[in-house]
Amino acid sequence: MSKITSVRGFRDILPDETPKWQRIEEKIREIFFNFGIQEMRIPILEKTELFKRGIGEATDIVEKEMYTFLDRGNEYLTMRPEATASVIRAYIEHHIYEKDPVAKLFTIGPMFRRERPQKGRFRQFHQINVEFLGQEDPRVDAELMSMLMYLLSEVGLAGLKLEINSLGCDKCRPAFREKVTGFLKSREEDLCEDCRRRLVTNPLRIFDCKNESCQEIISGAPVILDFICGECREHFERVKKYLGILHIPFVINTKMVRGLDYYTRALIIIPGPLLRLPRNRWERKTLLQAAAGTMVSYGCWVVQTYRG
Ligand SMILES: [Zn+2]
Ligand SMILES: [Zn+2]
Repeated sequence: MSKITSVRGFRDILPDETPKWQRIEEKIREIFFNFGIQEMRIPILEKTELFKRGIGEATDIVEKEMYTFLDRGNEYLTMRPEATASVIRAYIEHHIYEKDPVAKLFTIGPMFRRERPQKGRFRQFHQINVEFLGQEDPRVDAELMSMLMYLLSEVGLAGLKLEINSLGCDKCRPAFREKVTGFLKSREEDLCEDCRRRLVTNPLRIFDCKNESCQEIISGAPVILDFICGECREHFERVKKYLGILHIPFVINTKMVRGLDYYTRALIIIPGPLLRLPRNRWERKTLLQAAAGTMVSYGCWVVQTYRG
């Protein structure tokens, strides 16, 4: 009889490793407590519709990475690929915003994505997620960024570089998108197969492509900061100012664009071997319309995969 092993991309955390995990988690909980961020525990299973609406259908996550199945009740369910959509769902479902629209929430736990297995990446991975809800002020962006840098240094990841960019808003991004799409169309034959498809579905996602020839094309693409409106510029300037006041060094990375429509304005990333796509600030209108119109949430995936 063949031996039964764990599922590909899923792994055991063995007793010699768990103390490291516990240390990091304890440290993080302590920091969040000090910053007044409360824990929310969300289910691992959600209705598939939540992620389709909350993340967007034309994203890699929803298109090909979700663990989705038809439940016996004839309903499609998905193992959470991220936390934010669930946090917002709970925030609305339990009318948290009625008591106090400002909420600072974190979640810690496993997420599931059927990605191509790569070294150091797992299909069940662990994520710390922070959401600051209900405040529009750029001070909140700066607060979140500074907390993130502090947290990372406290768990032993000092010397990381903060990169920021603005993604504009619904008013100013369309002009940028149009310009970029035109530019990318003119180079269509040099793009990889995936990106040619993205050119139709979601052109800004091409900025995320790892393919070298695509990256080279992108390096010559129009820059979003040349397109952002007065309000977005003001917001970005204030984020930079507050970071200065907080003594948080940063660089501007104009190539960081993200094709996901729900992100607006300040976006951050901290390149590093253990970190994958921390990001920030978005207005997830599709999900939030049920509540109080547009609401601002500052989401930040602190650590996608951490291995102690
Ligand atoms: Zn704008
Ligand atoms: Zn590509």
